[in-house]
Amino acid sequence: MAYTAPDVPADERERLAELAALDVLDTAAEESFDSLARLAAYICGTPISLVSLIDAERQWFKARVGLSVTETPREISFCGHAIIDPDRIFIVADASKDERFRENPLVTGDPDIRFYAGMPLKTGEGSAVGTLCVIDRVPRELTAVQEDALVTLSNAVVTQLNLRRRLSRHEQYYAMLARVGAMIARITDIESLCSEACHTGIELGGLRMAWIGRLDPPSGNIHPIAWAAWEERIAEPMARSMASDPLQRALAPAIAASKRPMVSNDLTIDPRTGASGIRRRHGLLASVALPLTVDDVLWGTMNLYAGRKNFFDAFYLDRARELAMDISFGIDRLQKTRDINYLSFHDTVTGLPNQAGFEDKFQTLAPQIHCGCLLAVGMEQLDQVGAAYGAGAIDSVLKEVAQRLQAHAPDRAIVALVRRRLFALFVPEEEPANFSRFATQRLAEALTLPYSVGDEQMGCAIQLGASFYPDDGETIGALLTSAERAIQSARNLHQMFRFYNEKTDETTAAQLRLEGELRKAISRGELTNYYQPKIDLASGKIVGAEALMRWLHPERGLVSPAEFIPVLESSGLILEAGRQAIARAIIDFCTWRDAGLDTPRIAVNVTALQLCDGNFITDIQRNLAAAMCNSAALSIELTESSLMTEAPLVMDALQALREIGIVIAIDDFGTGYSSLAYLVTLPIDELKIDRAFVIRMTTEPAYMGLVNTIISLAHNLNLKVVAEGVESGAQADLLRLLRCDQAQGYLYSKPVSADVFAGMLVSPHQICNPA
Ligand code: C2E
Ligand code: CA
Ligand code: CA
Repeated sequence: MAYTAPDVPADERERLAELAALDVLDTAAEESFDSLARLAAYICGTPISLVSLIDAERQWFKARVGLSVTETPREISFCGHAIIDPDRIFIVADASKDERFRENPLVTGDPDIRFYAGMPLKTGEGSAVGTLCVIDRVPRELTAVQEDALVTLSNAVVTQLNLRRRLSRHEQYYAMLARVGAMIARITDIESLCSEACHTGIELGGLRMAWIGRLDPPSGNIHPIAWAAWEERIAEPMARSMASDPLQRALAPAIAASKRPMVSNDLTIDPRTGASGIRRRHGLLASVALPLTVDDVLWGTMNLYAGRKNFFDAFYLDRARELAMDISFGIDRLQKTRDINYLSFHDTVTGLPNQAGFEDKFQTLAPQIHCGCLLAVGMEQLDQVGAAYGAGAIDSVLKEVAQRLQAHAPDRAIVALVRRRLFALFVPEEEPANFSRFATQRLAEALTLPYSVGDEQMGCAIQLGASFYPDDGETIGALLTSAERAIQSARNLHQMFRFYNEKTDETTAAQLRLEGELRKAISRGELTNYYQPKIDLASGKIVGAEALMRWLHPERGLVSPAEFIPVLESSGLILEAGRQAIARAIIDFCTWRDAGLDTPRIAVNVTALQLCDGNFITDIQRNLAAAMCNSAALSIELTESSLMTEAPLVMDALQALREIGIVIAIDDFGTGYSSLAYLVTLPIDELKIDRAFVIRMTTEPAYMGLVNTIISLAHNLNLKVVAEGVESGAQADLLRLLRCDQAQGYLYSKPVSADVFAGMLVSPHQICNPA
């Protein structure tokens, strides 16, 4: 037959290696590529569009629209021609009139190609691995705008291919090694080192489970000291039960003797797994035990498990050995420095860090934080205690103070005894207003309770002074000086507590004033709900509403939540304000429903603090019952960042909400750092893409790719996707093409009062114009 087979690019070998490294050939269809192909066909107005990859002998389609075959010989491919010039779009206006293609079977027979335009996909340095192409059965042309779009979309395909590769296993593995390396330099105790190494293995190493055990030389047993698993709950019990089963007991002496990794690439048939099918039951199909050695003696083992047979190939084992050596090195270093460190950085009576230890911990923390508060606790009377009761009495009071400080300090605080008469406490990311409340209420109360010395109870006067990082000092030394000055001025004013500088004193006062006003506003019912509709992108109908809080200030008018929500949160007033907001939402829902309107579910914004409140769920249930409403009335929105804090309590509350049928959405998605591995463990139903992404999506291909990825991943996890802040028709069109479920934004309506919203439910078509 007379047609021209495509040339082979000069760097064909490198090109094929690049394609192989993408690890994409013969993989299943993925929505993120399908939707880009759909977009290309839609924009160019062609019946066919393909993401085609040129393998040695064939072209294989990662995505296809309007074509049923999955591959064709390379010899007859159009895309084979297109990739010869990787930087330019390749266009055949009418194949039946083109010598190179006239008798090509794809032209003479099915699919009867006449028009072809393909933009090469250049993922690496050299030639292209394939194309994004559009095909028509009639001759035609592309407009300049369509050509531009094809180029833009092909960039998005490249972004997507690279993203996919980045997530692929080998890359992950190097990332894991790098992370462990950094960890070893940073971490100061062996337990955290081991624990972080295990977690890194799960997150980046593609593993199902990992644990590290320490050898107990007399018995030869290995005791787990750190663990991580895909399902965190089961990690510890599994590690413990595996550590004591026959396979593991046989392993320890073998590893101790050989100091080499012990691999089992098929645990279903490994005779050493014995009768306990625990590994198999949890889908652990391959394992490797790596020796951790210190001074050439076995210290313990790191045990990795994968969910796939033959997972630990030569490449992985090499890297795993490097990993084990890194961890061994870290353990060695930490053991040797531990003893010296402890003495130079701690106070021996209380066990708290001394000033050097305090500074050391602060220096580790400082680069990661924006601000914080330091509190100095002065105990001038201690000398009198010593004089009256002996030196031992001073020690027991110091110990008691240390315990009380540790018991009441927030989790992330550093507590120290910087001098014999001076305790200090540093709380990161803390604002003065909040901190003053904490110091004068919780701490002062705890520290002024009587102390027991021998059989006696005695009081001990204390003075508190605080300083604010970084305004009042950037080092511990400077912050302590400021805080001690504050103690001095507290003493002069016969107060128990002072903040260092006047400026912070002022902001504290302003905040406290606003807090007072808000307290009144809540009791007078000045807070109200506005509502913004959520629109179903396919039908254009209102399918939800978000309740957004407003303050109807008697003088200032409508105050936006940006101004007062932070104060509500830091003061704890959000508990009452949030309770009222939910009650109002339920009442409004019932009013609309009882008026015969087609009333959608109302979403209420909720903070982590509310979720952790023991009464939160019973309050909701009581309000629903009082209004004779069921859980279909309500959903809640939680920001990604609030999901990252206080995880266990939040998790329990989410589970309980789920059980009573309340839909849960993640708000502002994309602005936090939650990993997808973490997301899938949460009981959530909906994901709201942050406005920032929606804005950039229409102008930056990388953002469009990202939104596309978020949507397809969310759909894979069975989550509904809502786009926030949609302001233009173009954004809505693109979101519809990307199969986003719902949209919310000024395009449809700003948040409005309950009455106006009810009007929208009466005549929805006047407000939202579906495409
Ligand atoms: P959010 O939950 O992310 O709410 C969306 C915000 O985006 C709202 O601001 C809304 O008015 C605004 N918005 C919606 N569509 C568009 C658009 O197309 N363009 C632009 N530029 N903005 C749009 P708002 O009402 O000022 O609320 C701000 C934040 O205050 C909310 O962010 C939420 O985090 C918080 N908030 C509001 N009400 C409550 C509440 O009852 N409880 C709690 N805890 N937080 C609330
Ligand atoms: Ca929200
Ligand atoms: Ca939001």
